[in-house]
Amino acid sequence: MRVLCLESGGTKLVVAEADESGRLLGRTVRFRAEAQRASQTLDELISAGRELLKGRKVDAVGFGFGGTVSRSDQRPLFCYHEDGWGDVDAHQRLTDAFCAPVFIENDCNVAALAEARVGWKFLEGTLFYVTVGTGIGAGIVRDGTPLRLGEVGEGEIGHLIVEPSGPLCGCGHQGCLETLCSGPGLATLSGQYLDEPITGPVLMERYRAGDKMATLIVQRAADYMAQALAPVVNILAPDLIVFGGGVMQDNPQYLDLVRNRTLEQAFPPIVELAPPRFERSRLRTDVVCQGAALLALLGLNALQSTSDDL
Ligand SMILES: [Zn+2]
Repeated sequence: MRVLCLESGGTKLVVAEADESGRLLGRTVRFRAEAQRASQTLDELISAGRELLKGRKVDAVGFGFGGTVSRSDQRPLFCYHEDGWGDVDAHQRLTDAFCAPVFIENDCNVAALAEARVGWKFLEGTLFYVTVGTGIGAGIVRDGTPLRLGEVGEGEIGHLIVEPSGPLCGCGHQGCLETLCSGPGLATLSGQYLDEPITGPVLMERYRAGDKMATLIVQRAADYMAQALAPVVNILAPDLIVFGGGVMQDNPQYLDLVRNRTLEQAFPPIVELAPPRFERSRLRTDVVCQGAALLALLGLNALQSTSDDL
């Protein structure tokens, strides 16, 4: 058995193959030069998939989509960095292109599944996965199974408002966590303190070097992160919080700061008796593709058991 895995993120498109155990085989990565429209991205995913498969058939396709998906009909609805997803029937086009069942889910949700099943082999308890990169998103997995709570998803931690008079977000609200703590958000935040804004990586580099102003800005960012994560601890009581995305993965010192600030604000009995662990992603850049492979395999399993029941 073979599945095709697709990923469309803020900066790259990835296409990979996986075997029946979900192990990733060959892959192709295409970096986006500039913003595209959905139909272009879809064409590129299909052509990269065909190129990779070289005529081989696949049993299913899993797609980790960097935006909101309507679950009942498996349709990508919209994405804040790319227009036009509502106007194309991605599910149908992928089904026609690869002649196989297609399963589509938000990229953070499939990433959470991958960290739980493959990265951390965490099959008992609640895992909360947060990615902090071009945007900020999250997924929830309980006992190795994705926790699907709503028609258009859950875990939208990036759109919690942490600064009501803050910058305008793509979602239409002001001061969402994503506008201040994602990679681009850190640049915006730095502009509130410095004459010239600096990029997230430069900010973190200065922070590591002990620069006073950079430390102040990073502490502010950690406070915003804690403002969003402490309610997650109180409401979900996760056992493990895994951080993906460049901002957290490359800066363990910042992750420690976020952890400390979050636990200072969370409900004390949870913190004293069952504090969540804070860890970095083990799958790193493969996390979404790995999740797309698992999504396809689980989807195929569910289809087969339904047809066995009939
Ligand atoms: Zn928002």
